[in-house]
Amino acid sequence: MEKWIYDFSEGRSKDKALLGGKGANLAEMTHLGLPVPSGFTLTTESCMRYLNDATFFEKHLAAELRTAIKRLEVETNKTFGSDEDLLLVSVRSGAVFSMPGMMDTILNLGLNDSRVRTLAEQTNLSFAYDCYRRLLQMFGDVVYGIHKESFNVLLIEAEKANNKSVADFNEQQQVSLIEKYKELFSKHKKVFPQQPMDQLKEAIQAVFHSWNNPRANVYRELHGIAHDLGTAVNVQEMVFGNSGNESGTGVVFTRNPSTGENQLFGEFLLDAQGEDVVAGIRTPQPIQELSERLPDVYQDFLHYAQMLETHYKDMQDIEFTVENGKLFILQTRNGKRTAKAALKIATDLVAEKKLTKEEALMRMEPEMIDQLIHPIFEPTALKKATAFAQGLPASPGAATGEIVFTAEKAKERHELGSKVILVRQETSPEDIEGMIVSEAIVTSRGGMTSHAAVVARGMGTCCVTGSEALTIDEETKTVTTKDVRLTEGDILSVNGNTGEIYLGELPTVVAENNQDLALFLSWANEVADLDVRANAETLTDLRTALDFGATGIGLARTEHMFFGEERILEMRRLILAENAQEMATALTKLLAFQEDDFYQMFQTIQEKPMVIRLLDPPMHEFLPHDPQDIQQLAEKLGQPVNELTTKIEALKETNPMLGHRGCRLGITTPEIYQMQVKAIIQSAIRLRQEGVPVIPEIMIPLIAEKEELVHLKTLLIETIEATFNSQNSSLFPYEIGTMIELPRACLIADQLAEQADFFSFGTNDLTQMTYGFSRDDIGKFINRYQEKAIMTQDPFQHLDQQGVGQLIKLAVSNARRIKPELSIGICGEVGGDPQSIPFFQAIGIDYVSCSPYRIPAARLAVAQAAIRSRRS
Ligand code: ADP
Ligand code: MG
Ligand code: MG
Repeated sequence: MEKWIYDFSEGRSKDKALLGGKGANLAEMTHLGLPVPSGFTLTTESCMRYLNDATFFEKHLAAELRTAIKRLEVETNKTFGSDEDLLLVSVRSGAVFSMPGMMDTILNLGLNDSRVRTLAEQTNLSFAYDCYRRLLQMFGDVVYGIHKESFNVLLIEAEKANNKSVADFNEQQQVSLIEKYKELFSKHKKVFPQQPMDQLKEAIQAVFHSWNNPRANVYRELHGIAHDLGTAVNVQEMVFGNSGNESGTGVVFTRNPSTGENQLFGEFLLDAQGEDVVAGIRTPQPIQELSERLPDVYQDFLHYAQMLETHYKDMQDIEFTVENGKLFILQTRNGKRTAKAALKIATDLVAEKKLTKEEALMRMEPEMIDQLIHPIFEPTALKKATAFAQGLPASPGAATGEIVFTAEKAKERHELGSKVILVRQETSPEDIEGMIVSEAIVTSRGGMTSHAAVVARGMGTCCVTGSEALTIDEETKTVTTKDVRLTEGDILSVNGNTGEIYLGELPTVVAENNQDLALFLSWANEVADLDVRANAETLTDLRTALDFGATGIGLARTEHMFFGEERILEMRRLILAENAQEMATALTKLLAFQEDDFYQMFQTIQEKPMVIRLLDPPMHEFLPHDPQDIQQLAEKLGQPVNELTTKIEALKETNPMLGHRGCRLGITTPEIYQMQVKAIIQSAIRLRQEGVPVIPEIMIPLIAEKEELVHLKTLLIETIEATFNSQNSSLFPYEIGTMIELPRACLIADQLAEQADFFSFGTNDLTQMTYGFSRDDIGKFINRYQEKAIMTQDPFQHLDQQGVGQLIKLAVSNARRIKPELSIGICGEVGGDPQSIPFFQAIGIDYVSCSPYRIPAARLAVAQAAIRSRRS
């Protein structure tokens, strides 16, 4: 028989796919003997079955649910149906991947008009009705979509009318407030079900449905989580943190989730239930203070926290409740953390011998590494600036932008190209889309575990919470402090590392390379199969690349070198030369520039390999188009304007992407390539004389025909040999390779391999040519494609493994058949994409090459790909 419900005593943490993260961990903790209230889990499969067929519930689930409740009644020695020994339960969603605040929870289920009286007799009036009101409110919200806030309005009205706090209401006042709550249900044409079993069924179904709520969908889109996993539902005996001052509830991380420091980090509230801690209504106390308020509970908690961390080999995020001095653990999971904390925790756990290096490497998301190298405010500017407000440093980073007050406005301004900072009293899950597009998030309420803080840390977005000096009026769209008044569009700078907020814009710089990162990435190098090179040509980029650990340069483009003011003039002179003499003069000047460029580049990277690509773009890119500029150029060159205009016209191309460029130019205007290789070899000779054994790697772009390569190679070798001769230099090795960026080149890779010393796949052009999509224009329609699920990803960001990837794979295997030792690299954008790297590992590429800032993440990604491939 199929089984849809598992008791907590039946599962283990490995059963996440079936029981959801929360359920599997509740089962694991039960197994470990932790004080977890009893309960059971309806599986994720039952959720998907129900969502596909509503009759599934009564047909297949209902009977098993009744049995599970019976068992819980026996285990707890309480009853769910009768008015005695009340069993109350919580209904908690729990998907496979934790989705903070995305799904919904209902507490105190099982109370009704008569059972609340029993509870009041057994405990006290105020507590019993507090539970019942919470039930009505959460049930109304989750199951019937009645806004939570409208219940609070009724509560406040009643307190005003009775002129006392709800805790002091007499029975008749409590009952009449409950009646008000029920009237709110009827206003929504709903009735609160009095039968506990009916409540339970409706609650479970509502949680199932919440899998499909828009917020959950957005979250899954953002994190690439599949939509067909479903959520499990946990039904668990209630324990009461709201039953007096020996009771309470809290949320604690076993290490600091912002810095990674090995110290408990979290908050608790006495006499409180459920989400009170994170809701920001009452200000919680730091967890350390629990040692004064309830020392025994604190000791117990420390014990369990350590036990869980050791067991899961990772920092835990634990939810607990204390009922009359007794501690219960309600949830544990691997805690979300900033990149900085993730790195520190991983390296600390290795030092504490709780993790191996490989395990540590697998723990860290490559994307997180990016956050470690992102900008901070420029220190001297920061020193001079005075913060006008201060909050909690909830998520690190430095950001400047214009302020907006709503998620909608954030999206609207973002779409128009503005950088925005979302400023709110507090955020809620409805704000998620606005939060995604914001550079930073600032709230005036809430702590380090508030919604804003947790979500921002997950996204790596700079965030400051609980900046209480700010009075934020979301109606009038103003932020005021006692000195300043800001309105929508004003510019702020936010420091997520310190919690400080500044008026106006502050310059940012790259964060210092930290030692933990260097250590961690050195472990990555130990296991990696692929090298990571950089796409770089300016000296600054070359240095950054080396700092980030590039093993060489996979692509140094030469076209950018012709754009300096003097250089572009010579380039234009060359292109527009009327005779050989003019051309030669321009070439001599360009040669000097290029030789110097290459000399400095070689000098910077020393003996590390560097692939220099010969000139690639079509000629018209170097020419002026504006009549005024043409006029000026005509004067400089001493050519008539008309003639010049005609020449420039003639060089215009209908589709320059497919045009007269790359090696085609090398064939029609050989002088340029000759000049470039001469410059490369002469600069290499200088370096060799200085004792640096450089081996130039010269790359010819856009080869489609074997004969193109043969022709150009012959030309280049002649030039190179002549250069050695003219310099009286002894020979040293050099390589001539080709960029593979046309589908045809992939198909004849074996022929090209005979001729080439190395290959480098230019995946940008290859993708463009394979799809017939221009990479500059795909932005105009890719969104539509994604909406309509025609394509799920932009192939310029993540390799299209089925199409472009197959061409690469074919080319690699054919080339290697001819020349097994051929060095093969990837130098397009996807070379640095962690998602594409495992594919390159699998087909036997030697190195990937990417822009300098992507190198650290790529180093981790190649290490992970190697570990995975060895494991499988
Ligand atoms: P989320 O996934 O949003 O964290 P949870 O299911 O963990 O939702 O529920 C939120 C909070 O509700 C818990 O942290 C806990 O404080 C409270 N809660 C849930 N179940 C129980 C229970 N059986 N007894 C007491 N409190 C509970
Ligand atoms: Mg929640
Ligand atoms: Mg929880």
